[in-house]
Amino acid sequence: MAQVKQSKSVPRSRLSHIGDPYDTMNALNPLEQKTKHTMKNFFISGSAQIWKSRLSWRIASVVFLTILIIQAATFILTVQEKEREQFKQIEEIARSAITPALETTAGMLSSPLTQRQANRVISTTIVNGLSVYSTDLHLLGQYGEPVATMMLSLDNIGRTYRSPDGSSYEFILRPNDLRKPYIIIARINSEDINPYIINHAKESVIIMFLLSALVTSVLMIALGHWLLEPILFLRNNLLAARENPDNPKIKESPYNPNDEVGEAINVAQSLIKQNAENMQQIRSAAEDKIHKLAYYDQLTSLPNRTLFVQKLTELAYTNKESAKKLAVVTLDLDHFKDINDSMGHNVGDAILRGVAKRLSTTLPDHSFVARAGEDEFAVTCVLSQSNTARDIAEKVAGIIRAEPFKVYNENFQIRSSLGVATYPDDGDDPNHVLKNADIALNRAKEEGRDRIKEYSEDFDKLVQERFQILRDLRDALEKDELTVYYQPQFDLKTGTVIGAEALIRWWKKDNSKDGGHFISPGEFIPIAEQSGLIVPIGEWVMREACTTAKTWHEQGKDIRIAVNVSGAQFFQSDLVKHTMEVLKETGVKPELLELEVTESVFMDDISVAVNTLKQLHKLGVEIAIDDFGTGYSSLSYLRQFSIDRLKIDQSFIFNALNNSDDAAIAKTIINLGHSLNLKVIAEGVETKDHEAFLIAEGCDEVQGFRYSKPVPKDEFWAFVSDYNGSLKSFNV
Ligand code: C2E
Ligand code: MG
Ligand code: MG
Repeated sequence: MAQVKQSKSVPRSRLSHIGDPYDTMNALNPLEQKTKHTMKNFFISGSAQIWKSRLSWRIASVVFLTILIIQAATFILTVQEKEREQFKQIEEIARSAITPALETTAGMLSSPLTQRQANRVISTTIVNGLSVYSTDLHLLGQYGEPVATMMLSLDNIGRTYRSPDGSSYEFILRPNDLRKPYIIIARINSEDINPYIINHAKESVIIMFLLSALVTSVLMIALGHWLLEPILFLRNNLLAARENPDNPKIKESPYNPNDEVGEAINVAQSLIKQNAENMQQIRSAAEDKIHKLAYYDQLTSLPNRTLFVQKLTELAYTNKESAKKLAVVTLDLDHFKDINDSMGHNVGDAILRGVAKRLSTTLPDHSFVARAGEDEFAVTCVLSQSNTARDIAEKVAGIIRAEPFKVYNENFQIRSSLGVATYPDDGDDPNHVLKNADIALNRAKEEGRDRIKEYSEDFDKLVQERFQILRDLRDALEKDELTVYYQPQFDLKTGTVIGAEALIRWWKKDNSKDGGHFISPGEFIPIAEQSGLIVPIGEWVMREACTTAKTWHEQGKDIRIAVNVSGAQFFQSDLVKHTMEVLKETGVKPELLELEVTESVFMDDISVAVNTLKQLHKLGVEIAIDDFGTGYSSLSYLRQFSIDRLKIDQSFIFNALNNSDDAAIAKTIINLGHSLNLKVIAEGVETKDHEAFLIAEGCDEVQGFRYSKPVPKDEFWAFVSDYNGSLKSFNV
């Protein structure tokens, strides 16, 4: 990246002088470089590289063969000429030996050679045989070796003949040659001619090869220097560019840019460099983008959790020696999900952006702010001696609380829950410290939100305990250690038992003298909900409750059983299908089953909730809203849903007698239920006064310890069998 910056700010023409990354030979000045490079290339590249190049070999072979062929053609021509010369010479010798020996006085019909003269010519010269003819082709005499040439017509007068072994040569002396009216065929010795010609050929071939080699070498050196070597140089640079296009290790061209090859190399070099620069720019832009995507949150532009951990690690490392502590604060916006669901994501996003902006602009410069999750932010800073991590958290909470966030001209007063941890007090590993701050944050949320919680080791224990409960619960489900208790529900006007709520019980075996103890559903149900284990547990409870309802029906009493269904069951399982299966399996009438859902179900996904409730209602099952009055839901859904009963949360009943607000809420719920044609049931009825209050307000049904605690099914059966049908018998 540094290279890109450099190449951006410095003109390319100066690059070779200041350490251009492409120029690996910049230790010498350009002239020295050039000379050295040229010489080196001439002797090393020029000889070694060129002779390694296939192209060079092809050119060399073509040049060599061409020269050889030209020379061979010339040689063939000169050899024939040489041979002809030799024959001419021996013809001349023979003629000058024969002509003086001819008799000037001989008649036309007799041979002009006497036997004696002929013998002398034959014995003293290269002539070995003679045949003498008259001009009308009469053989006049024959001497020495017989000649092979037959003089049959005057057309043959120009012919010559050579014996197959090359030792004899015959030619014809015509009247013009002899200046006499005879034709003489002379057979002469020609055995020296062949060796002479062969010798001549040998010499010529050697010269030919030497010449070809010389010319080829000179040509190759010249070609190599001016053409092949630059091409190889260009090829090497192109290969380097292909191998490493964004940072090619290419050499500066030593070739004259004024000739065509040098110019072509220069153009190619600048294209390679330009391409490398483009690629570097693209790469660095892509890297920037990837870095942004990997380390920054797109919505708020704040660093994300990954970068936060990196920064934390870096701060931990740099402050190790000075033993300075770090504050790690995590913050979660309270009920942000409600805002998102009710006002839409645009509003939610605007609030998140507002929080990010407020935190990053208001906190001191040395603080590092990140978006750590959906509505979770994290802050870290080095602590001074006068500051504690809690001080930082209070500052952060104050910043959020300081004034409402304005979105589309509406004010949203946001509260937050904060978790605080300190490095290194709460962990050696920065990542671990952040996790501990998160644990503290969860604790703050569990304790009712809008508060700051500092991490304590006890939290860890709590988390471990929860894991242990989850493991044990899984075991309990498998080993059938869960049971269902039933608590009766009464019609307040008639006093009859109209139903029972099925409540799960877990008897956890231990080594105590009782052999075990009950674990409250309030303790393990939330853990089962968080882990998803509530789905099989809920299914088991429903099956168990329906089996019991069926047994009671068979024993003569129709008692409707209310089964609690948690939000997780609503969304994680096919509740409708399972309910149908259980009804079918157990054969219980659908109206003997009631499902109790809490208001939270409507807040998660309203359309799924509406649809599921409709389908359940269609099966004939009754629906009650449990703990009514504690949720945040709007009343409008009550009309949309298929519900039969509102169940006033027990907290309103407990306090109705001493808290006018709670009494007012209880009354309102009763009136609301009636105006919507719903039954209203009150739970947590413990005393006669509670009961009197509910009778006075016209509540329909009751459930509570005043009548019976939840009991095992046999006890329940005994209770309803003995029950005389009058609530007045309960005189607590
Ligand atoms: P809930 O559904 O609101 O059940 C009523 C709770 O109030 C029961 O507590 C019951 O024992 C208690 N209760 C009833 N009358 C009185 C009274 O007069 N005074 C007092 N102080 N308490 C009374 P329990 O059984 O401990 O259950 C607590 C919660 O656990 C239930 O609240 C329900 O939300 C959940 N739960 C219990 N069983 C199941 C289950 O099978 N499935 C699901 N999903 N949740 C269950
Ligand atoms: Mg209930
Ligand atoms: Mg309840």
